[in-house]
Amino acid sequence: MKKTLKEIAAMLHADAPSPEFADTVVEGASINTLTIQPGNLFIPFKGERTDGHKYVRQALEKGAGAALWQKDVPDAPEDLPVILVDDSEKALQHLAAAYRRENHFKVVAITGSNGKTTTKDMIAGVLSTKYSVQKTDGNFNNNLGLPLTLLNIKETTDVAVLEMGMSGFGEIELLSNIATPDIAVITNIGESHLQDLGSRENIAKAKFEIISGLNQNGILFYYGDEPLLRSLVEKADGLKSASYGYDETNGLYPRKTEIDEAGSRIQLGTEEAWVSIPVLGRHNVLNGLAAIRTALHLGLTLEEIEEGFGKMEMTAMRMERVEGSGGEVFINDTYNASPTSVMAALQFLEEAKVEGKKIAVLGDMLELGENEEQFHREIGQQMNVNEIPVLLTFGPRSRWLAEEAILRTPLVYWFRDHAELVRELKKHLSKGDLILVKGSRGMELEKVIDAFR
Ligand code: ATP
Ligand code: MG
Repeated sequence: MKKTLKEIAAMLHADAPSPEFADTVVEGASINTLTIQPGNLFIPFKGERTDGHKYVRQALEKGAGAALWQKDVPDAPEDLPVILVDDSEKALQHLAAAYRRENHFKVVAITGSNGKTTTKDMIAGVLSTKYSVQKTDGNFNNNLGLPLTLLNIKETTDVAVLEMGMSGFGEIELLSNIATPDIAVITNIGESHLQDLGSRENIAKAKFEIISGLNQNGILFYYGDEPLLRSLVEKADGLKSASYGYDETNGLYPRKTEIDEAGSRIQLGTEEAWVSIPVLGRHNVLNGLAAIRTALHLGLTLEEIEEGFGKMEMTAMRMERVEGSGGEVFINDTYNASPTSVMAALQFLEEAKVEGKKIAVLGDMLELGENEEQFHREIGQQMNVNEIPVLLTFGPRSRWLAEEAILRTPLVYWFRDHAELVRELKKHLSKGDLILVKGSRGMELEKVIDAFR
């Protein structure tokens, strides 16, 4: 977004800035003085610990073009380019929605329990062979991150690929209505936020809110192997949609799939050509299908899609391959964990071909609500201990998982301390081993891998 302050005030239905600043040009927006870019609109928030209004002057000294100022905060500076607003968060969202409605670019919006960031990176990578594309930075997917992302989309960009996250009802609806997607994608329904939402049906309904802001000619692409999504689609009158998944009843599915340690190769339903998806694991074939589905819709050829997969930039800590100092290979999947994603990652480990042996390092899965014990025990029961003979667990909840696994294999350990876990892991490692490391964000299991780099 590139606007004069006068234009921004008009978009916000706010009072015009003082005439000396009316033609000040503002480009993009930021809420953080540490990362603010020259020309940005600085948006201060009143937080619990600190009040962003204290940093307005500093932001402008660092090159910000202008700032907003919430009316209930006293002493609005008269010598600076500021626009007074009732509520900073609402103003940010309102401004992003107004900018989006100028319709400079197409929007692809992605939600789902798992795989949003990965799918976002894949879609952006693939589309960039044909279009100029910008995407959500890292995990900037919430009520602040999404509108900020929109405000930083350039008017010359063709497609914005946006991640939408949530923890309860109403949140995706809000984001969808700001971003008015041309294409919406739902990657899957898992168990994250079960604690807040009560059931998988409710999780599916909350994700499905993504259709509420869909553009008039917009379309939904969804993971069709999930019955909850199918049934919501059936009930949605007038919705344009298409599914993808492993099942042959989907509009897009892989007729043949080959998976190895470099990624996977798939042959699509009716096509002869193979497409390579250089990301690890069966679940990433699904994320790849979402990207292919989106790219086909936007007019890319299979050759362009294949080329795009080769060039994409992935976000760290998602099935990331890390070479250890002793010739072993770590799969760093420590960004987060839920029952669905842990099973997907274990399945990858089970199917992988390795020279040495396979080891799993699993941490607690958080935010699972009252059935958390059951979820942890089920993973311990379902783990294929013949394929994965060594298991190290970390955190109070993973003890349940360990208790189940140890009934079937002796090399099961439980730790409350990263350093102790690292010490034990060292004893088991040899050249050629493949070690999966996964846990919820709060478990910080990437520290385990750092000890072996
Ligand atoms: P968050 O809600 O934390 O933003 P996300 O939805 O963006 O997560 P990613 O960061 O892409 O998800 O992936 C997190 C983990 O989920 C991956 O490391 C992987 O283990 C698992 N995962 C990714 N895609 C899928 C999928 N389609 N089905 C099941 N699990 C998946
Ligand atoms: Mg994410």
